[in-house]
Amino acid sequence: MTDEFVDRSHILHRAFSERPAKIVGGRNGKKVIDASCGPSVSCLGHSQPEVFDAITSHLKNDIAYVYSGSPYTNGATEELADILLADKPGGLSKAIFVNSGSEATDAALKLAVQYWHERGQPQRTHFISRKQSYHGNTIGALCVSGHASRREFYKDFLSSNVSFLDPCYAYRMKGEHESDQEFAQRLAHQFENEVLRVGPDRVAGFIAETVSGTTLGCLPAVPGYFKAIRDICDKYEILLILDEIICGMGKTGTMHAWEQEGIRGPDIQTIGKALGGGFVPLSGVLLHQKIFDALSAGSGGLAHGHTFQAHPLACAAAVATQKIIKRDNLIERVAQMGHKLGKLLSEEIGPLPLVGDIRGRGLFWAVEFVLDKNSKTAFSPKDNFCGKVVKNALSSGLNILGNLGHTGEYQVDHVLVCPPYITTDAELENIVSILKAAVLETSHPFV
Ligand code: PLP
Repeated sequence: MTDEFVDRSHILHRAFSERPAKIVGGRNGKKVIDASCGPSVSCLGHSQPEVFDAITSHLKNDIAYVYSGSPYTNGATEELADILLADKPGGLSKAIFVNSGSEATDAALKLAVQYWHERGQPQRTHFISRKQSYHGNTIGALCVSGHASRREFYKDFLSSNVSFLDPCYAYRMKGEHESDQEFAQRLAHQFENEVLRVGPDRVAGFIAETVSGTTLGCLPAVPGYFKAIRDICDKYEILLILDEIICGMGKTGTMHAWEQEGIRGPDIQTIGKALGGGFVPLSGVLLHQKIFDALSAGSGGLAHGHTFQAHPLACAAAVATQKIIKRDNLIERVAQMGHKLGKLLSEEIGPLPLVGDIRGRGLFWAVEFVLDKNSKTAFSPKDNFCGKVVKNALSSGLNILGNLGHTGEYQVDHVLVCPPYITTDAELENIVSILKAAVLETSHPFV
């Protein structure tokens, strides 16, 4: 707070004690490789002339704003929904577009509750989520987020109609002699027991990130976990809500991360970040035909909406982003480059003394740091190890994101390595080499 810039700025920045670096576009300042794209947002990088053209062309030739809360729609909105849902992936057939991931989570929860009302089971209002999860910062989204520090001030304000189960965090939670399958089954039993404790006729939905993003660091579930969860959801007719706001839209090497889980798909799915590529704020909710059918047969409408939902300009930018991804086969490229990134991280950074785990899929990876590799002892938050790695990397021209605050029982000190889908082989090598040097420099006082 003593910093002159911070005192002068009329923006209330997140961390008052840190002076934020002012970022500008163009090519004249210090060059920084962006290997995390904020929280994994800018999938096409920061400069994409075709998307810029699509935005200006939309403004010149179409309409800037349409209120889709009244009976209006727009070509760009309809086209975006067609691009996403023409093939009805997993039976998902309708979309709602909102502005942020948190709004998407809120809309998903409300849809689930409305669905049960329409089905004549209004008592189904309980959600089951997981510890150390993050589904957004609005009050609704925080209700189902197990993120400890983000909940802290608001605890008394958040619904108690939510249970938090163990996450599928194999690195620390899988028993020494337990197979992946046994671990998945143990967690699935925990889920079923919780459903029975609450009462199956009270549970509206189970919500989880398909690949956990910022709280547990690009963490895929062990094989069989989501299949077992899906089966229990089916057994008790519980809605499966998959949050793919950070891990979806191609980032893991398939359009939807759940396609790699051997399940038919979720009942409700949230998407964001790479949907609009960071050129515009845009997120969305995809819903299964059965949800639409229940609402159609019931009240005949959606009991939810925002002034700026389905904003035409945002949808036009997202259409252009998604067309480029498709035209340039970028999701296949993500899968291919992802193998290379995983191999480079494992070979170059995995053997370093304070690196506990390296995990991820596609171009969505994290490196977890520990004080002791054998015992997996975590750093103290005071050490701010990953924060120092981030700082050291930035001073060498690499932007990566470190974990955000205390998320719960396990201190998961990690950095995210989630470069854009257009990253070249040489850039990947450069990213890993700068990161390695930053980790070595930060490790010095601890080894
Ligand atoms: N869900 C997940 C998995 C996220 O990673 C995030 C943001 O990082 C959100 C929800 C919330 O999205 P937003 O910050 O756009 O509200």
